[in-house]
Amino acid sequence: MSNPASSISADLTASSSILPPSPAPSTPRPQVTRRYKLETEIVYTESNDQYRSSSVPIYQTATFKQASGSEMGEYDYTRSGNPTRTHLERHLAKIMNANRVLAVASGMSAMDVIARLLKPGDEVIAGDDLYGGTNRLLKYLATNGEITVHHVDTTKVSAVIEKLTEKTALVLLESPTNPLIKICDIPKITQIVKQTVPAAIVAVDNTMLSPMAQNPLDFGVDIVYESATKFLSGHHDLMAGVIAVNDEKLGERLFFVVNATGCGIAPFDSWLLLRGIKTLAIRFEKAQNNAQIVAEFLEDAGFKVRYPGLKSHPQYDLHWSMAHGAGAVLSFETGSVEISERIVENARLWGISVSFGCVNSLISMPCKMSHASIDPKIRAERAFPEDLIRLCVGIEDATDLVDDLKTALVQAGAIKHSEK
Ligand code: PLP
Repeated sequence: MSNPASSISADLTASSSILPPSPAPSTPRPQVTRRYKLETEIVYTESNDQYRSSSVPIYQTATFKQASGSEMGEYDYTRSGNPTRTHLERHLAKIMNANRVLAVASGMSAMDVIARLLKPGDEVIAGDDLYGGTNRLLKYLATNGEITVHHVDTTKVSAVIEKLTEKTALVLLESPTNPLIKICDIPKITQIVKQTVPAAIVAVDNTMLSPMAQNPLDFGVDIVYESATKFLSGHHDLMAGVIAVNDEKLGERLFFVVNATGCGIAPFDSWLLLRGIKTLAIRFEKAQNNAQIVAEFLEDAGFKVRYPGLKSHPQYDLHWSMAHGAGAVLSFETGSVEISERIVENARLWGISVSFGCVNSLISMPCKMSHASIDPKIRAERAFPEDLIRLCVGIEDATDLVDDLKTALVQAGAIKHSEK
């Protein structure tokens, strides 16, 4: 079988006439010397569609006919490549400042594709507050794939350095982490890893901030991946994952896995994700503003709040040296698991749900939900507060959100009526 997607996606400077319907890279008019701003790139697409359709067509097909037995077209089989997926991948490459992006079936698929770069005997250094699903996959690989995984507190660069050996094949970072909102020094860790073990890959899960607020590729990391189920799509109506790289050869290795395993995103989901991405900038800005208001309300009410938009965050300066936004996920402690449970149950506008990055606000207790797959003993070792409540802030009216939370706090007995 031919490898059509690989022949078209690596060279982003190729003339658009030989490309399937897809956006060109940043193409301001010749007299404009700067690049378009991200907000513009996110909505602006170019395409060579024969009917000049405003929205990219959904090529809902598994196969493509060949002109003859010996002439292969650009596409032959959707597992290997599909024009709607290509359009999405090229659009994402543009906004993630990447040479190549691969769009797959979920954030965990993205992580799985990256994990398949590992061989028996390899070592992985990862955070100690990873997303539960990532933790589960790494544990599976450690148990069944003869891979050693070191979980360290990545807020301490020295903790990463301590575990670096010539066997280190992957350093996996999240910043901010989810849900403890810990920040790690991505540029410094990357620089040290590259100097010490040049062959090791540094990968960053950027789901918590999206390209709107942070772009770790700009710090020299090898791979950025995201669960596009979150901010990128924004409506919790699809599962998707994206992997972004600058190194062409690494892109080819990752594409090989996508093609071999068949985890590439489906045409309809590609289209849905593209539609979601078009409103990313305004959704993200509104959600982030709301999150700041909610975080300040909770802090003023006396709770220990974790949010990088608050000056009280212990790594406030480090965060803002890398990011240009605080995101829309925060967490706080109440001092009692029972009170936390009652707060969650008494919230109304805040839907009790895992996940984040959606237009509507969500509330959860990570220990019982998104992070329940982490052994309670390990959670205790990592000082994970069992009473932690995570808030994933949406784009509703901020006063409504605060009022609803206030009511839940009062009903749960966490604050007195008059306190706030
Ligand atoms: N990374 C982070 C930080 C997440 O929160 C999640 C899901 O919640 C994932 C990765 C996995 O993404 P998905 O659910 O799209 O497989």
